[in-house]
Formats: sequence, structure tokens, C-alpha cells
Amino acid sequence: MKNYDALVIGAGFAGAVVAGELARRGGKNVLVLERRDHVGGNAYDRLDEAGVLIHKYGPHIFHTNDKRVFEYLSQYTQWRRYQHRVIANLPRDNSEAVPAGKKTDGRFFFPVPFNLDSMKNAFGAEEGERLGQKLLDAYPAQSQVTILELRRNPDPEIAAIADYVYEHVFVHYTMKQWGQTPEEIDPNTTARVPVRLSRDDRYFQDAYQGMPLEGYTPLFEKILDHPNITVELGVDALKRLELTEGDIKLDGKIFNGPVIYTGQADELFSFRFGSLPYRTLDFGFETLAQDFFQPQGTVNYTVDEPYTRITEFKHLTGQNKPGVTTIMKEFSKAYTGAPGEIPYYAIINGENNALYGQYAALAAKYENLHLLGRLAEYKYYNMDAIVARALALADTLLG
Ligand code: FAD
Ligand code: UDP
Repeated sequence: MKNYDALVIGAGFAGAVVAGELARRGGKNVLVLERRDHVGGNAYDRLDEAGVLIHKYGPHIFHTNDKRVFEYLSQYTQWRRYQHRVIANLPRDNSEAVPAGKKTDGRFFFPVPFNLDSMKNAFGAEEGERLGQKLLDAYPAQSQVTILELRRNPDPEIAAIADYVYEHVFVHYTMKQWGQTPEEIDPNTTARVPVRLSRDDRYFQDAYQGMPLEGYTPLFEKILDHPNITVELGVDALKRLELTEGDIKLDGKIFNGPVIYTGQADELFSFRFGSLPYRTLDFGFETLAQDFFQPQGTVNYTVDEPYTRITEFKHLTGQNKPGVTTIMKEFSKAYTGAPGEIPYYAIINGENNALYGQYAALAAKYENLHLLGRLAEYKYYNMDAIVARALALADTLLG
């Protein structure tokens, strides 16, 4: 076997970026081992049987405020201008609070994050305007407020708004996604989708937003296309690695170069302290013989339906393909580690972080081992955060 300077496990954003930098900036020979039969990790995209460009592991929209990350990726892709917008689709409120004569059938919609226009959809134009002004007056120095913060407001009218948003946006969606209420999960999770004190209906407000013009997979192929990089697909690195006292062996020989591991931390150490809890997703893809299924990229089903959201990829990718479209429903459930299940979301809380800490402490005993990425660090990172961390690790390794 060729002599490699560095070993990278996983070819998602974490692994690909660090491998690319070690090879290009550092002139290192890098071996990348990837368990799946493709690069890209969870950002992988491909054409489906109908020729529609889909994201196999859930919808990925790029957004960042980090100029370095945006400029780094722009070396490998052009961008399609795209600002993600989401609407909630929910049944009309026919609870007992609604007078009999005023009950209506059907469904209604409002922008998510819940904003000043959502307020009008929910409460009617005039009342919505008045309540919106009330919120603006209550939080004069803020452009947004989290649902948990809003619920702590003692003003009875604001508390009623908070209850409405909690019930119609957060509690049922969060129960579907996490099996727990918004109060029970990490507050940073619901804070990702605040209540907006403006009419801005974009899902993200970052300075740089868009989709890779040709898709994510070609972006990964370009990053990894370098004479110093060898990528082996369909390889479970853990079958070739051995972690002994302070040493890492690859194919039975001590490997002294940096080992960048982007898989699950618990799996790396044979689950010796127990399994780290995750949520996984089932994806329901449907291809339909029509131009478009829904008006926007993603529609959240915030109150009913067993799935959390439906994404229609053509809105994201801009693919021009009349007469056919593919949509995807997301069903969340507890990760059990059964074959084929993928751990998509770490369940961040004190107990789980402490368990992760045991694995991190064990990893720290190996001087040349680096845990990097959403799985290996047991964090809820977006793509841009992972790219930033991979660039920073490359900076450190290259001195
Ligand atoms: P991954 O992409 O998970 O890559 C890890 C790779 O390591 C995998 O390919 C895996 O097969 C491989 N691996 C693991 N163990 C081994 C082993 N033993 N041997 C060999 N290979 C191994 N972020 C955004 O910024 N915008 C979005 O819109 C967005 N949407 C998302 C939607 C969903 C449903 C999910 C789940 C995530 C979303 N993300 C989004 C987050 C994004 O997916 C992650 O930030 C990013 O993929 C993390 O990259 P990574 O390299 O750390 O991990
Ligand atoms: N959330 C919600 N209702 C929504 C959208 C989001 O309750 O309509 C909550 C839910 O708990 C979710 C979290 O906010 O898990 C973060 O949402 P985001 O869209 O950022 O999740 P991701 O795209 O990472 O799955």
C-alpha cells in the first residue's frame, strides 16, 4: 500500500474539506475511507429514476455568514441564487374556542418562521396588525424572539400570542421531530426558528445563501479530485482500524499521521460506555406527473399529519423539468442502530453530552486522532459550521 500522510474517515463535508486542504495546501498524501458507495455524506444528491435531482438524505440548503467558508466553497462550485422560504400548512382552528357560526373547513397557511404577516393570517388583518405592533413595542431592540422567551412574557395579550404560536407552530412539530416538547429539548433547537419581528419570510437571514449550481455531489467530486487524494468507497474504516494503547493501526500497521474521524464517536470505541442517542428519519419519496406539487421548496405540517415537512426539490435546485416532480416527506423516529438506519440528529442534553464527553476523553488519549463533524462531535451543526471547523483543523494540522 502507498504511504499515506493522513487518514480521513468519512467523505462528507468534514472529511472532504480536510482531505482537500491537507492535499492542496500541505502537499500531503491522504487516504479517504467512506462506508457508503458515494461521497458527500448527508449532502449527497443524485438524479432519481425520473431524472429529478433529489437529496437522498433530506433537503440541504446552503447558508452562511462566514465569508471564508463561502469563498472556500466558491472555488469548487458556482451558485444558484436561492433563498429558502417555508410555509406552515395546518387545519383551520375549529377548537371549542371558535364560535359555532365562525367554524370553517379546510386548511390555512402562514410563513414560518412566524412573522408579522403570519400574525395577520392567523388573527385577521386588523387584529393581526394591532398584535404585531404590540410585539414590536414589547421588543423594540430585537429583530426576533425565541418561542421560549416569548412564552415567559407576563403581558396577557403577548402570552396569548405566544400560546397561539406554540400550539400552531412548535409543539406538535417538535413532538413529531423529537418525541419531546419544546421545553424538554435543547433550547438552541427551537431558537433556530424564532418568531420574527418583521415581514422577512426567508427561512435563513444569512449574508450568503444558495444552492451549488450543478448540485452537491459534483462539488464534493471537485474537492476530492487531487492526485494526492485516494478515495475508497464502500469501505468501513472500523474494519481496518485498530485502536490499541495510545496507538492507531491501519491494516495492522501503526499509523502515525493524523487520523481524522467523522463517524459516530460511540461506534469508534465499540459502544463501550453505551450508545449515544440519536433521531433518525424515514424519507417518503413520491414522483408525480405534474410540473409542481406545492408553491415553495418546503411546507411544514405543524399541527397534523405524521410527517414533519414536505420538500419539493425542483424549487431548491431550479431544475427545469416540465411534467414531472419529486417530493419527499420526512418521518422522524428514535434511532435504534438497526441495519440501514442513519443517525441524523444528536439529542443534545446534559446526560447525553456527559456520555459523549467520556468518548471524547478516550479519543484525546490518541495524540494523532481528531474527531470532526456532526456525528463525531455529537453536535447539531449546519454544513457551513462543519466546513469552518474542517478548515480550522487543517490550519492547525498544517501549522
Ligand atoms: P456526514 O455528512 O454525516 O458525513 C459523515 C460520513 O462519514 C458519512 O458519509 C458516513 O458514511 C461516513 N462514515 C461514518 N462512519 C464511517 C466508517 N466507520 N467508515 C467509513 N465511513 C464512515 N445543513 C445545512 O447547512 N443546511 C441544510 O439545509 C441542512 N439540512 C439538513 C437536513 C437533514 C435531514 C439533515 C440530517 C441534516 C441537514 N443539514 C443541513 C446538516 C448537514 O447534513 C451536516 O452539517 C453535514 O452533512 C455534516 O457533515 P459531516 O461530514 O460532519 O457528516
Ligand atoms: N420547529 C417547529 N416547527 C416548525 C419548524 C421548526 O417546531 O415549523 C422546531 C422543531 O423543534 C425543529 C427545530 O425547530 O426540530 C429546528 O427546525 P429546523 O427547520 O432548523 O430543523 P432541521 O432543518 O435541522 O431539521
